[in-house]
Amino acid sequence: MKTILVAGAGGFIGGHLVAELLKLSEVRIRAVDKKPLSDWWQVHPRVESISLDLQKWESCLEVVNGVSQIYNLAADMGGMGFIEHNKALCMLSVLINTHLLLAAKESKVERFFFASSACVYAAGKQTRPDIPGLLESDAYPAMPEDGYGWEKLFSERMCRHFREDFGLIARMARFHNVYGPKGTWKGGREKAPAAICRKVIEAKLSGNHSIDIWGDGNQTRSFMFIDDCTKGSQMIMNSEIIEPLNLGSDEMVSINQLVDIAEEIGGVKLKRHYNLNAPKGVNGRNSDNTLIKEKLCWAPSIRLKDGLERTYAWIHDQMITNAPCPVY
Ligand code: NAD
Repeated sequence: MKTILVAGAGGFIGGHLVAELLKLSEVRIRAVDKKPLSDWWQVHPRVESISLDLQKWESCLEVVNGVSQIYNLAADMGGMGFIEHNKALCMLSVLINTHLLLAAKESKVERFFFASSACVYAAGKQTRPDIPGLLESDAYPAMPEDGYGWEKLFSERMCRHFREDFGLIARMARFHNVYGPKGTWKGGREKAPAAICRKVIEAKLSGNHSIDIWGDGNQTRSFMFIDDCTKGSQMIMNSEIIEPLNLGSDEMVSINQLVDIAEEIGGVKLKRHYNLNAPKGVNGRNSDNTLIKEKLCWAPSIRLKDGLERTYAWIHDQMITNAPCPVY
């Protein structure tokens, strides 16, 4: 029986990934996160769940013992507001990947997966809302998102060189905006889909039918539902693809269109206030899925409307039951 380690398992994607890995036969799962277990989004029975800080070398050495595969999803991150104001914290996640890679090498781990990000892409390729999808090659010449994006790009290179120099089988996916239930929806680390759903629900519940939007609402993005993310991550992990691969939806929408969909789900129309001083990120970003389709004969396909309905319903439940949302 092989043991799979999920680093960052107390977080949004990690919690869902553990749930999916539990469906496999003949595997043991070790889940690790620096948060106390009470703050994990999902704690699963039949999983060894450990609270440890993976920036520390000794913690990494301890948790990789006996492990054959590692999914590294642990990082200090959040939405645009968080990453623009916490560049040093985001860059310190480099310690997690460095120590995990070294520990993986020492322990002769078979496969290593690194969760990279669309934030590695060069700023010059994302200047207009109507840009074409980003190709994997658009990450160079390098000019990624300051702080968070540089850390991701550097850690991708480290994975590559551990493969080339030490023979570690390392796989990398560049996630494009992942959303879904059981993830941060308030407190400052939430991303656009959760924030917009929450604001629409707040407006409905309070009767104050207005919404605050960051930027002019014309900036474009694509959003990948969590089920596509966990499926694609496993496919990439078990593939022979050595280069970083886009893992994202190619259904590009503007933030205004995202609000339209959330309003439609909520059955409400809101007066929009645009906060032009708020962090808004690049003007346009979408995933080009040519390579993933060619390599895996698959690409994320869950429609934004369908995924957002499920996310909206879950956030609505959290709000009306006053459920806690860990703020860390
Ligand atoms: P998340 O914040 O919900 O989960 C990350 C988890 O890592 C958190 O639970 C956090 O406590 C944990 N962590 C942070 N530092 C740690 C440390 N030193 N030791 C152990 N655990 C630590 O974020 P997520 O959305 O689940 O993202 C997972 C991964 O995917 C991250 O690497 C992120 O950068 C990447 N990613 C996510 C998105 C997205 O849209 N959600 C997009 C691109 C990339």
